[in-house]
Amino acid sequence: MNTKDSCLGTFLSDRRCPCCDAGIGKPAVWSVPAGESFDWSSLRDSWRGFFKRNVFLTYVRCQSCGLLYAPRYFTDTSLKELYGNMPDNSVGLPHAILERTQRHYFEFLERHSDFAGNYLELGPDIGLFTQHVPCMGRTGCLWLYEPNLAVHDMLARRLAGRDVRIHAEMTDLSAIPDDSVSVCAMIHVLDHLPNAKPLLQQIRRKLRAGARVLIVTHDERSLLARALGRRWPAYCLQHSQLFNISTTERFLRECGLVVIETKRSKNYFPATYLLKHLSFAIGLRWLSMKIKGDSFVIPLRLGNIMTIARPQ
Ligand SMILES: [Zn+2]
Repeated sequence: MNTKDSCLGTFLSDRRCPCCDAGIGKPAVWSVPAGESFDWSSLRDSWRGFFKRNVFLTYVRCQSCGLLYAPRYFTDTSLKELYGNMPDNSVGLPHAILERTQRHYFEFLERHSDFAGNYLELGPDIGLFTQHVPCMGRTGCLWLYEPNLAVHDMLARRLAGRDVRIHAEMTDLSAIPDDSVSVCAMIHVLDHLPNAKPLLQQIRRKLRAGARVLIVTHDERSLLARALGRRWPAYCLQHSQLFNISTTERFLRECGLVVIETKRSKNYFPATYLLKHLSFAIGLRWLSMKIKGDSFVIPLRLGNIMTIARPQ
């Protein structure tokens, strides 16, 4: 048995297309060497951050629906270990900059919803997006599902005095009454969930008629993705699948949701942060380690898509 197969059943398992359940995928992008050839401890070490050797599990394109996904991915048990006690997702970027990007997402959703009623968010992290929701003054209960226990305190503090229910997992939403949620947000969540479809179907049942769902994902068809090829940072172990505008629409339809509007998002970055990532992506790792500071901020359409959907 070679290394590639010996990891099956322990920390990796095979899966079919998470959108249409077909088993016909054509290899589309892989790291060199491919993630599948590494043992558990090497993959665990590669799990975090951009500034390690870029290793990921091979992505195939589904020949039936077009979704880009990793057919061999971490088991639920290994994911639990990998996600346990991660630093918050914002590490490495100043808060003021992150808040600006989150505000931009919020303004997009605000055009589609008045935020009256109960709110559900998956993966709120430290609440940089969530904090805007109760300020609208019409929101009921805030249901927040955040698997990273390390950020729960900060999240609760940011929303102190509000009707907040924080849960530590991402699979069972049974605590929420059916037909009770008016707004749902998932920012950089859908790419991370190997079993996203059953979860989205659960969410669909929680939504009232007329509810709105905001989804932010990377865009695997973006200029940046095409330009960087396998060096595109979103090709990583944490992303079990990656979307584009048309696969997002198809996937949501399978889950009982209809897309109302799609837009490429602006992300705000300090110029030095961009230079740091760029020099790393083109192979100048030594230079990327030397760049510091964050005085000059640039808004960029960096290959993310914002989607607003409603129940079918
Ligand atoms: Zn498919």
